[in-house]
Amino acid sequence: MYDLIGVGIGPMNLGLSALAHPTPLRTLFFDESEQFSWHPGMMIKDSMMQTSFISDLVTLADPTSPFTYLNYLRSLNRLHTFYFYEKLLISRQEYNAYLKWVSTQLDDLHFSTRVIDIQDTGDSYEVLVEEVATGKRTTYETRNVVLGTGSKPSIPGSFDKNVIHNTQYVMEKEAILQQDKVSIVGSGQSAAEIFLDLLTSDRPETFELEWISRSTIFETLETGKLGEEIFSPSYVRYFNSLPLATRQEAVAKFTRSQNGISPETLQAIYEHLYDLSPEEQQRVKIRANLEVDQISYDSDFTITMRHTELNEQRTSKTGAVVAATGFVPSLPRFINRLDIEFEGEQQAWKVDANYRISRTVSANHHLYATTNLELSHGPAADNLGMSVSRNQLILNDVAGKELYPVEQHATFTTFD
Ligand SMILES: Cc1cc2nc3c(=O)[nH]c(=O)nc-3n(C[C@H](O)[C@H](O)[C@H](O)COP(=O)(O)OP(=O)(O)OC[C@H]3O[C@@H](n4cnc5c(N)ncnc54)[C@H](O)[C@@H]3O)c2cc1C
Repeated sequence: MYDLIGVGIGPMNLGLSALAHPTPLRTLFFDESEQFSWHPGMMIKDSMMQTSFISDLVTLADPTSPFTYLNYLRSLNRLHTFYFYEKLLISRQEYNAYLKWVSTQLDDLHFSTRVIDIQDTGDSYEVLVEEVATGKRTTYETRNVVLGTGSKPSIPGSFDKNVIHNTQYVMEKEAILQQDKVSIVGSGQSAAEIFLDLLTSDRPETFELEWISRSTIFETLETGKLGEEIFSPSYVRYFNSLPLATRQEAVAKFTRSQNGISPETLQAIYEHLYDLSPEEQQRVKIRANLEVDQISYDSDFTITMRHTELNEQRTSKTGAVVAATGFVPSLPRFINRLDIEFEGEQQAWKVDANYRISRTVSANHHLYATTNLELSHGPAADNLGMSVSRNQLILNDVAGKELYPVEQHATFTTFD
């Protein structure tokens, strides 16, 4: 009998495993991929984290943990160079390397294993796990389950299936550069990074680059000091206590904090555009106010768009399309049989302040979630900094005592 089984090993459940490591809790985590890997298709050279290295997997809960980012640097003999580097934001590649380093030290992590079913026995859960390579199935019994299945690419149904989602960008980049023209659809951080990467890559002289955005302006990520306090345990607790209708309205207000582009990326894009020769500028187009209605494919792609203010149709012929059109929560089908309580219009589950999913049956064994939390926990739902306090709360709840005290009133702003 385990205390907690985790489905999926992304940064959220990896952090949970690292924090559970020194506790008496019996834990197991499964992931269908062969080894730990964080968004490999977006490991673009020079791309940076948007959250400080202090929000690593453990520091905000336990700075003395062996799994801190600083201890990772020490293992590489790089502490002094990092001290002189004097930066809070590290590269995405380095963060991924740190996560991999942690993943090799935790023996409750199992890769190449897919969770295919969870049954409620009445006083525990039976978790059915399949080895990806052999199909061998094993059942594990646990008192609690945490669903950490993350998100999956979201591409509108009217886009041809040959469109590349940004999660595949690095793997497809060479093929993209063979085309005469590439179009990027989307106006968030991923679209901006891919535009910048193509802008600064060696490419044929005639290569055309087009960036299509629905919005009029490219919004900058909220990085103001007080504005960032919505990514705090105090705000998340407050948000979770609000009535559903108020939360639904509030979620829509935070697009800048969630989907804005980092000022550094926008600055770099502008500088590179400024340095282009007049001929090169002719081949690089940023097109705003365009809602893509359809993308069809017949040896070339045809993008059909509508100008949102002039209400006119536009088309563009292009050799490759990268859709940076976002993500939706990845929810395994087996959850449908777990009597989960949903709220609101979009299949969002009802989740309490300790990340426990509400069920229509009462039980002493629980389901927790680290994904699909936007409506219950607000704009910090996907935020890596907040994942530490989330994991503290989950472990405290599972243990029935405070294993990790959570900082209270940790912001200057009072929200309630
Ligand atoms: C390019 C990019 C950069 C980002 N940068 C930042 C940043 O700088 N700061 C920040 O705060 N946030 C950032 N985010 C947002 C967020 O931190 C990430 O999306 C993060 O990966 C979410 O972690 P996760 O553990 O919830 O899910 P994921 O990383 O999506 O992991 C989920 C895992 O579950 C596994 N899985 C799913 N179903 C099953 C199953 N049935 N059985 C077994 N395994 C299963 C999958 O294989 C996967 O490995 C970024 C997001 C992206 C896309």
